[in-house]
Amino acid sequence: MSDNNKQDDKQADRPGNRTADRPDHGNAGSRFTGGTIGYAAHGNLYLNITNRCSAKCSFCIRDLCDGVYGYNLWLSAEPTYEEIIDELKNTDLSRYKEVVFTGFGEPTCRFDTLLQVTAWLREKGKRVRLDTNGHAKLMYPDRDVVAELKAAGMRSVSISLNAESKEKYDQLCRPAFSDAYNSLLEFAKESVKAGMRTQMTVVGVPGIDISACEKIAAGLGATFRVR
Ligand code: SF4
Repeated sequence: MSDNNKQDDKQADRPGNRTADRPDHGNAGSRFTGGTIGYAAHGNLYLNITNRCSAKCSFCIRDLCDGVYGYNLWLSAEPTYEEIIDELKNTDLSRYKEVVFTGFGEPTCRFDTLLQVTAWLREKGKRVRLDTNGHAKLMYPDRDVVAELKAAGMRSVSISLNAESKEKYDQLCRPAFSDAYNSLLEFAKESVKAGMRTQMTVVGVPGIDISACEKIAAGLGATFRVR
């Protein structure tokens, strides 16, 4: 599925605040003024490129606030590739250990843009990580998403596992795809096999068997973190 297709042409799920929250890293030249694209925290630069998502997690912070670390993450429109690159060109990338695709939505909803920006960052020598719900194989069934991520230069992925069973996952994350849980496990397996640093995470909510989740991650060859 192309980034230019119908799905990607849609506006973000929710109108954003048109008042720009500018990151504190000198990007005054950016043309984009509809919410925060890049924000700094923990020594990393985080990129927020979409508000769309293929899940409706019961614990999603989007239902509770307008952003993180004082940045408004509701986008009035999805930034184009050029607008994201403008933002990056006006940012001192040397200040950051890693650039991380994350934010108020699922970055792989914009898979082609994600690949293009990753390749641009890799050319600049930056480490790039993807935080994902792991549904991309279902979003783009005709593509080899893990191979494409690797080829673009992605070296690290963090996949939300969130539960030790499909039943609990479906209840907690309410995915748009009925086979989302198995598919995210497969995504993790392929990421490990492709040689990408692969982490699986859970949110510590009641009813989740953290130890069982940790075993699943270990069985796939991934590291594990409770977030
Ligand atoms: S996958 Fe992430 S962005 Fe999507 S609903 Fe769940 S927590 Fe929110």
